[in-house]
Amino acid sequence: MHAPTDASSLAAFAAEVRDWFATGYPQDILAKTRNAETLGREDLIRSQAALGARGWAAPHWPVEHGGTGWSPSERQIFEAEFARAGVPTTVPMGLIYVAPVIYTFGTPEQQARWLPDILHSRKFWAQGYSEPQAGSDLAALQTRAERDGDDYIVTGHKTWTSLGHYADWIFCLVRTSDAPKATAGISFLCIDIKSPGVTVRPIRGLDGRDYLAEVIFDHVRVPVGNRIGEEGSGWSTSKYLLANERTWYARVEEKRMAMDEVRALAAQIPAPDCALGRTTAFRTKMAQTDIAISALEALVGRARAGGPNGAGDLASLIKIMATETAQAITELLLDLAGDMGAPLLTERAQGWADALPGRPSFAVPAVADYFMARAQTIYGGSTEVQKNIIARAGLGL
Ligand SMILES: Cc1cc2nc3c(=O)[nH]c(=O)nc-3n(C[C@H](O)[C@H](O)[C@H](O)COP(=O)(O)OP(=O)(O)OC[C@H]3O[C@@H](n4cnc5c(N)ncnc54)[C@H](O)[C@@H]3O)c2cc1C
Repeated sequence: MHAPTDASSLAAFAAEVRDWFATGYPQDILAKTRNAETLGREDLIRSQAALGARGWAAPHWPVEHGGTGWSPSERQIFEAEFARAGVPTTVPMGLIYVAPVIYTFGTPEQQARWLPDILHSRKFWAQGYSEPQAGSDLAALQTRAERDGDDYIVTGHKTWTSLGHYADWIFCLVRTSDAPKATAGISFLCIDIKSPGVTVRPIRGLDGRDYLAEVIFDHVRVPVGNRIGEEGSGWSTSKYLLANERTWYARVEEKRMAMDEVRALAAQIPAPDCALGRTTAFRTKMAQTDIAISALEALVGRARAGGPNGAGDLASLIKIMATETAQAITELLLDLAGDMGAPLLTERAQGWADALPGRPSFAVPAVADYFMARAQTIYGGSTEVQKNIIARAGLGL
């Protein structure tokens, strides 16, 4: 597709995208998101496969690997229509996190082996960074990869692995040497999660869903050809990936849509103790959240203007603003749900509406989403850690 910039071409582009979401995209998945049902592995795969088949799964990738070549305005329009249609948020581990690492640092053979399966959602990926004793202090990781001929033998324990139990592949940070500087002994290794010696155990979250897993490696044989970059270069690769991850949390259009929903609901649902509408505190928080979204959009614009890897130090700032804003939105929705949401933590399975007649659909996910959003300021590097990075790298303190 060419890159139009004039208003009528952009309007035609928006109509084309809107029309495809209304007719070409799997409508049963949209119905599930409208009904606030939890999506399973197959739904997520079908959603991304449909986008892949349309050529729209990876707008941010370079065109030669399957990106769209859209202008910033087109990307913004696409993201708005994506959010407006209720398409489930992209599962990021493949398309957003590891793919840019593969097309930037991988060999042509690795690119040919992994990128098409990510683009067309044929393989599901997970992220194996954190360990029981290595979260914020990631360089303390202990999963070892010992060289044995053309293979590594991997032994260790990854945890808090998002959707690890759905995965076909997991990209891991592993220790390949005991270099005096801890970060120098780390390599970036992709592991087929079905390999003998890998055990995956789901972990139930605060929101009642089995979103997380722990992944245990017991002498798992992994070809050396699955390492991306040089041995010992994993730390800089991991930082590149984290900058993309932290920027991706912005999802400005998704937040705008959520605020539109907040406004519409606030107009309908009377506040319990305020005859004139919702309380001043509520309205102040709505306004602050709208302003934060606009500031976030400006920051993302600056980051994107710097090119595909332009986020740099802005990534930590974007991460803090995006995740705190996401939490604020869930707090507003929780306030609106009141006691309609409270008992419904684990009720997002198919059929909840029949089991719980009369509950407004927004109130069902409100509680679960509120709890899940608590994790946003923890995963991808906690807010405190981002502030440390800003202080050191951004302000030179
Ligand atoms: C829902 C969820 C999904 C996740 N998904 C993944 C995943 O897919 N893959 C993956 O690898 N990991 C994942 N994680 C793990 C996540 O990255 C870690 O939880 C995070 O990095 C924090 O590490 P920790 O849990 O060990 O906490 P700790 O590092 O023990 O931190 C505990 C507290 O101490 C604070 N703290 C720590 N060090 C400092 C410091 N130097 N200065 C100031 N404060 C500090 C932290 O901010 C935090 O408040 C996920 C976590 C959650 C909750």
